[in-house]
Parts: sequence; C-alpha cells; structure tokens
Amino acid sequence: MNKIAILPMNVPKSHPRYASLMQREKLIEGVKKNITAIAGLIAHGRGEAFDYLIGERTTENAKKAIRAAVARMQSSKTVLSVNGNVAVLCPEEYVKLAHLLRAPLEINLFYYRPERINAIRNALLEAGAEEDEILVSNKEYLDIESNRKQANPEGIAKAETVLVPLEDGDRTEALKRAGKFVITIDLNPMSRTARFADITIVDNVIRAVPLMVEYAKERQEEAPFDNKENLREAMQIMKQNLEREPDVTSHPAPS
Ligand code: ATP
Ligand code: MG
Repeated sequence: MNKIAILPMNVPKSHPRYASLMQREKLIEGVKKNITAIAGLIAHGRGEAFDYLIGERTTENAKKAIRAAVARMQSSKTVLSVNGNVAVLCPEEYVKLAHLLRAPLEINLFYYRPERINAIRNALLEAGAEEDEILVSNKEYLDIESNRKQANPEGIAKAETVLVPLEDGDRTEALKRAGKFVITIDLNPMSRTARFADITIVDNVIRAVPLMVEYAKERQEEAPFDNKENLREAMQIMKQNLEREPDVTSHPAPS
C-alpha cells in the first residue's frame, strides 16, 4: 500500500505532488470561507492541465512577459483586479505587488455574492492591505451581460492598465473595447483572455506573482512587446514537451 495518503489539510511534504495538492487545499478552504467560487475550482483544474504542459515552472518566456508587465504597470495608472482564486492562492504577494506599484486592488467577481466580497476583503486585509487600498467593482461600466460589467469609478474605470489574473474572455474583450491595456496571468495560451490581452504571462499565479514582486522592487525598462510572438513561444514549449518520450522512471509507481 502506498503510505502517502492524500489527507485533507495533511499533505506530506514528501508527496511528489505537494505543491499542487497545497494549491487545491487552499482553494477548497477558500470555498469553505466564501472566498472562492465552486466554479473557481473547475477553472483551476483547467489551469493545472496547462501547468503540466509548460513543465510546472516559470519559463524564460514567462519571465520576459513578467518584465514587460511590470515595466508597463510601473509607468501607467494601474489597478490590480482581484478574484476568489488569487485571494487564496497568493494574497500576500498580490498585496505586496499592489504596494510596490502603488496600485489599488479591485474586487471583481464573476459569481457575485455580497458575503464573498466581504470574505475577499478580509483575506486582503489579513494579507497586509489597508482598507483604503481595496476597491470593489460597483458601477455598470463594461458592455457585457454579467456582473463583471461593473467597475469602480476610482479604480478600473479610471485606470490605463488593468492586471486581470485568471480572467474570463468576455471581460478581457470588454476591457479592451473600453481602451484598457490588459495584462493577464493565464496558463492557457489559447484562452480568449490570453489572446486578447496586451501582455499574457503564461505561468501559474502562484509562481508568477512572487516574481512580479521581485521585479517590481526595481525600475524595469519599457521595451516593445509582441504578445503574439510571446504566445507562439509558450505554445512551442508545450508542443516540445508533448513530443518528448514519456518519462516512466522519475516517480516510481506505488507497489
Ligand atoms: P476564456 O474565457 O479566456 O476563453 P476559459 O473560459 O477557458 O477562458 P476561464 O475559467 O474563463 O477559462 O478563465 C480561467 C483561466 O485561468 C483559464 O484559462 C485557466 O487555464 C487559467 N488558470 C486557472 N488556474 C490558474 C492559475 N493557478 N494560474 C494561472 N492561470 C490559471
Ligand atoms: Mg471563460
């Protein structure tokens, strides 16, 4: 029998899927605390599949996109959009990034419930945010048919640049129509968000956001960035990984 049982909240560090299991645990906790929507778990599952394809690491390609994203956010009026997945996966780093960029955080939910707004606000406060740094999308703004059409007049509505990690394609498209420069973190280079954004960081938020914090500690030079080429490179890396011989040796099957 394999001794490493997958017990909730008791994931052994030795487990080969430790990092992945911890992310799942955080999201399940997030659902219990009203922070994460159940659909957020499904979205995460889709992300996990693409994380396997990229090799569960931050590629040089993603680093290039991160550098370009930070440079843009440092030199324009930026708002960091917050959803229920980011609020449990990497809240401290996300708040740190907001501080370094002096950018507000704006809670914007696809599955809107007032108690979720409160739960996310509390998670951000616990992660080090100040009350006055947290905005909520509260006025009709975008031309789409969902709760996500809302934006805060002092936040996203006024911003030049919006960071929307794990975003739905409809809102990304509407943000583009509203004239925003859109930066996303999305493991799927083929999603509509990945394709419509101006800069797509093809990486897991859990790895990308801490790196954005590191880069944001120094001034990054703005340079031309071709997102189509960036997505092409990310897809190429996935393709190369798919063409490799199956590795049947590194994780012995349990006896
Ligand atoms: P789109 O609406 O852009 O076409 P979609 O409908 O396939 O995308 P959504 O649920 O709307 O998917 O958006 C979530 C996106 O976030 C997906 O592309 C998913 O791969 C990605 N994703 C999920 N978890 C993570 C994560 N931890 N880090 C980065 N990206 C993630
Ligand atoms: Mg979608």
